[in-house]
Amino acid sequence: MLNLIIKDTFNKELPADSIQENTRRQVTEACFSFVTPKKTSNPKMLHVSDEMAKELGFSAEEIASEAFKNVFTGNEVYPNTYPYAMCYGGHQFGHWAGQLGDGRAINLFEIVYNNKNWALQLKGAGETPYSRTADGLAVLRSSIREYLCSEAMYHLGVPTTRALSLALSGDQVLRDVMYDGNAAYEKGAIVCRTAESFLRFGNYQILAARGDVKTLKTLVDYTIKHHFSNLGNPSKETYVSFFKEVADRSLEMVIHWQRVGFVHGVMNTDNMSILGLTIDYGPYGWLEGYDDGWTPNTTDNTHKRYRYGAQPEIVLWNLYQLANALYPLIEEAEPLEAILEYYQEKFPEVYIQMMREKLGLFSSKETDDKLVSDLEEVLQKTETDMTIFFRLLANVSKKDTVQEAIKKIEKAFYTPSEFVDEIKLAWEKWCQNYLERLQNETTSDKEKKAKMNAVNPKYVLRNYMAQLVIDDADKGNYTLLNELYELLKKPYDEQPKYEKWFAKRPEWARNKVGCSMLSCSS
Ligand code: AMP
Ligand code: MG
Repeated sequence: MLNLIIKDTFNKELPADSIQENTRRQVTEACFSFVTPKKTSNPKMLHVSDEMAKELGFSAEEIASEAFKNVFTGNEVYPNTYPYAMCYGGHQFGHWAGQLGDGRAINLFEIVYNNKNWALQLKGAGETPYSRTADGLAVLRSSIREYLCSEAMYHLGVPTTRALSLALSGDQVLRDVMYDGNAAYEKGAIVCRTAESFLRFGNYQILAARGDVKTLKTLVDYTIKHHFSNLGNPSKETYVSFFKEVADRSLEMVIHWQRVGFVHGVMNTDNMSILGLTIDYGPYGWLEGYDDGWTPNTTDNTHKRYRYGAQPEIVLWNLYQLANALYPLIEEAEPLEAILEYYQEKFPEVYIQMMREKLGLFSSKETDDKLVSDLEEVLQKTETDMTIFFRLLANVSKKDTVQEAIKKIEKAFYTPSEFVDEIKLAWEKWCQNYLERLQNETTSDKEKKAKMNAVNPKYVLRNYMAQLVIDDADKGNYTLLNELYELLKKPYDEQPKYEKWFAKRPEWARNKVGCSMLSCSS
């Protein structure tokens, strides 16, 4: 038996959908619908995050128990809990899409452990009133990607939802991965995700879009009471401070994404957490060659709306939509506009500061803006691996000559033969400026290296690495899943035994489905 301290608030304090049948429909004047997870034919736990399990207070016996397996695959409802799916809407690729909602996420319960509140949610546990035309299920491939990446992001210090467990359902799920008429059966899987809350911008937007100001106010007051209690009692001023804090947290999140080279892939407003957490790991990817214009999401190929370089602007666009949703409670545009302007002013400042840290510059000089923009340009002249470049840059010493510095970073270039003429000159010029800039620093080489290595990860979940785990897991082999899970717990450490993962993307993975090309099909 599991011993959990249940403290449900969402499904106790907020208005529920009055209909209890699990039929697909528009749900009005409610924040959620009660729904029971689907029983699966042969559930099997594949992995449990020991770190997350510890945070939640699970003992080793509990993790190994039948009850754990059954509860976290949706086959057993924990006593006195009432699972539910949330109602939200969203802007998808810039267009208002109306009601979306948890189409395949089912919230189980909220628990308290060590004075922290956690919501636990299953992804892929069957249909809900919000499933629209889809089946409410998830496949092993996308579940592995969410499970591994959300934990990896946590260990990288990026605000994120987390994952407790990954299980096979034992059922087959039909998917057309590239939407080209080649549907095939894949193994069904269920991830149990955790977060303080899974509320998204879209939860507020749907209520504002329907003119349901009463429920909107109830939801905002609930959010402030439970998640932003430092802001005080509900009032117009508190709502403005709430929006300011969401803006600050979202900015912090996206700066981290830019720092580690993470591309979310689908930054729709329904995928924006109100707590500023990275949420909904779908067709995300990691920059290998540094490229402002890159997105892994083939569904976004034409406009590349959610490309790496656009992510901070898209956060701002999404904040505009949230501001519109909160407006009926504030009835004044000016304070909201001021916060949106503040975001625009603040972004370049925090971005440069983050880049200074990546470059090992601990004082600030006005010329740093130019040094950073020149670097962004030079990094794209010939394909240069972002992670490897910044990690190796830490080895550059103040005393190095330009040639010595280049020798130390050249492993980051994908096509060394291109490193001639204009490209070589541009790199030499940048290194020259960088070495000159380093002379203004008082930090020793050793201290600089340690500080740089604390912000420039050595190991990230490269797209092809996740795919290798998936290929093995499809065949029932989970050794690599375990290995990468362990590796990614300490992304900033040298970990010599895993050195083989400190390598550029292999050539076979350049244009392979799952490695550089991902769709929303999951
Ligand atoms: P996403 O693009 O994964 O953020 O999903 C957008 C919307 O589609 C959300 O409302 C999801 O819950 C829903 N959705 C995605 N996949 C499925 C699925 N297999 N079954 C039901 N709903 C889904
Ligand atoms: Mg989503």
